[in-house]
Amino acid sequence: MLIKGASLLRDGGLCQDMDIMIEAGHIVRIGERLKAEDDLVIDAKKMLAIPGLVNAHTHLAMTLFRGYADDMELMPWLQEKIWPLEARLKEEDIRWGVKLGCLEMIRMGITCYNDMYYFMDETARATKEMGLRAFLAGVIFDMRPEFLREAEPFIQRWKDDDLIRPTLGPHAIYTCSEETLIQVREIAKRHEVPVHIHLSETRREVDTFVNQRKMTPVEYMDSLDLLGPDLIAVHCIWLSPRDIGLLAKSKTTVVHTPVSNLKLASGIAPIDRLLHEGACVCLGTDGASSNNSLSIFQEMKTAAITQKNVWGPTTLMAEQVWRIATDNAYRAFGLNMGLREGAFADLVLIDLRRPWFWPATNMHSHLVYSMMGGVDTVIVNGRVLMRHGQIPGEEEIIERAQKQFLDLTSR
Ligand SMILES: [Zn+2]
Repeated sequence: MLIKGASLLRDGGLCQDMDIMIEAGHIVRIGERLKAEDDLVIDAKKMLAIPGLVNAHTHLAMTLFRGYADDMELMPWLQEKIWPLEARLKEEDIRWGVKLGCLEMIRMGITCYNDMYYFMDETARATKEMGLRAFLAGVIFDMRPEFLREAEPFIQRWKDDDLIRPTLGPHAIYTCSEETLIQVREIAKRHEVPVHIHLSETRREVDTFVNQRKMTPVEYMDSLDLLGPDLIAVHCIWLSPRDIGLLAKSKTTVVHTPVSNLKLASGIAPIDRLLHEGACVCLGTDGASSNNSLSIFQEMKTAAITQKNVWGPTTLMAEQVWRIATDNAYRAFGLNMGLREGAFADLVLIDLRRPWFWPATNMHSHLVYSMMGGVDTVIVNGRVLMRHGQIPGEEEIIERAQKQFLDLTSR
């Protein structure tokens, strides 16, 4: 496959009329006037090629709950709305929720996502059918001890897959005992897989924990030897200065989910401080039940403008936000991604003939602050998932998701 005539982001400017050759799921050459070696040529004139975006934290099947319950306090929202619905979930709900979520992410230029939820074999199958890459963890908590027992077989079933990377998903420190977390750590070490957890999300979670254990949730994770590059810690909103130092020094991946945090009024994470200390920060949307979108572009803008509001207008400059959404995520998840020879052919073409990309001044600024759409083509592992805004099977997926939502809520 040859992508012809694309514009690339280079040193803050645009490098025009570049060709990208793809073979066996990888970018093999980037240059000018390359010759096509097979029939598939994608005309990318007036298109910007970017590497695929990573959604570093979501619960994709919850796309089926979008708009079902909004504008509530966190605990009543969970106890009265989300948990009763989750208790009735079947595999078929997961399938159509995941596919609906994949459609939306493809349209937003996301080619890889990191998820924690129920029925992960079905999530993996639906994701593979849609063609995306994913890091998947079955959620683990003590109320359902079988979830921990199922974690290792799940890893064994999926560890050699080309698109799916199995991980471990202890829900949070207040739903998992110390014994559970230690077992998770041992399984993670045995299989060299990341651990994905919600951490220090609400003030109440942190205050209650500090009262009981005389240490913060981050200090607790450190005491269990769980901090490190293989820990994906989501939210990290209520952090002490010592927590920030521990997360940074240990190279723990911190996933910032600003839209969901603001909508649930959980607080504003000290991202400026974390970056200042050298922490690895990535961006995620969280589930569509609390966001309600799956757009990393929206997270970029929201991250920047909320941090500026707290720390001043020079915090989180556009180019830095762009690096967080791309390079940081690739590094944190060990993804061989980027627009360079040898990387995965996971890339996105954006139609530049949209008003929000003009005048042609600063493309990083446009991508972070004014992007409102225009994702035209999405390629993952060398496979075209969307071309000129067309995704095969989209109409059926939307219809089936609607039917499944009605079935679930009347069950
Ligand atoms: Zn979450």
